[in-house]
Formats: sequence, C-alpha cells, structure tokens
Amino acid sequence: MAKMDRCPICNVAVKPENLIRHLNDIHPRHPDKPGLLEELKEEPGRIPQKRAGRPIRIRRWQIAVVAVIVLGGLGAVYLPPLLSGTPAFPCIGQEGVGLVYHWHTDLTISSGAASVSIPAGIGISTFCLEPLHTHEANGRIHIETQTARLYSIGDFFRVWGKSFGNPTAMHVNGTAVTPNPSLTLYDLETIHLQYDSFS
Ligand SMILES: [Zn+2]
Ligand SMILES: [Zn+2]
Repeated sequence: MAKMDRCPICNVAVKPENLIRHLNDIHPRHPDKPGLLEELKEEPGRIPQKRAGRPIRIRRWQIAVVAVIVLGGLGAVYLPPLLSGTPAFPCIGQEGVGLVYHWHTDLTISSGAASVSIPAGIGISTFCLEPLHTHEANGRIHIETQTARLYSIGDFFRVWGKSFGNPTAMHVNGTAVTPNPSLTLYDLETIHLQYDSFS
C-alpha cells in the first residue's frame, strides 16, 4: 500500500488504509464526514488492510516467541531423561500394532523372606514403549515385539535398570533351574527368582 490518497476535507496525503481513521481523528464533527465514511467503507482495502494486516503479523511473532519458550521449557524437562536413559531396545511404535508376537511371563522375586514388588510401567516412558514392559505392578512381563527375535530374563532386567546379580535359586514353571540371565522368555510361563538380598 505505497499509494497515497488525499483527504477530501483537508487535502492532506493519507495512506488509503488510514483515511477512515484520519477522518475520525481529525474531522470528527465535519458535516461531510458521515457521508464520506459510508462511501469509504464500501471500498476494498480501507478497513481490512488496517484491521487484519498488521495485528496478524504481530501475532505470528508472538506465537513464534511463545513456541520457542514452550519448546525450550519442554526440552529442559524431557531432554535430561532422554539423554540419561537410552532405551535398552528399539521402541515399538504403539501398543498392539504390527507385533510379531505378544507373550506374557509372570515374574516373582524374593529377597530373603520378603517378596519384591515389580513396579508397573517398566519399559514405558513418554517417548518409548519397549518390547519388554509391565503394565501393572503384578509381575506380569509383556513381551511385545515387532522383530522376530526372542528375549531373555536378563533383557527384562536391562529394561528395568536392575542388575540380575546372583540369585540363589531360580524356578521356571515350578521347576528348579540353574540361575541364568540368558533364560529365554516364552508365553504363559512363571519365573521365580530367589535372592539373599535383592536391590
Ligand atoms: Zn503392552
Ligand atoms: Zn500384554
């Protein structure tokens, strides 16, 4: 809008989109003003250019600034855990989608005479659902993989972030086996691990 109009009342040069405001501000009580305003409102570019153009440009700036602040804040909140805790296995995209298999193994752990609670949400974070995870605090390990491979009880401990350590006894479906972190996890099994002291 480089083109200039002249005010029909005082003949001063005014930008077309500012002419209505000029009439209101400079000639508020001029007898010709109401008629002129009626005509000007019909002309394209008088009101929209002024009312819609500039404020939207300002809002885009504000949105950009707010977005930078918000994303920066989110980054500060979420980046440290991401950087510190790299998932043990590639994340599966979504619960139940594109799985090669979905198995369940029930794990119980004893530390001396006490039973160790296995928390819900192992292997589940804001950004990653790992192929080995727990949904509830009942020791049920969900094995949901998008690649055709097997996982071991040691793999579950890696996801959990615990050391498999040195169990004094290990039972699979009630049968004693030599404690071994490379024991494969299959469907519908129970695994019990006995420790002198589990931490
Ligand atoms: Zn699941
Ligand atoms: Zn499951």
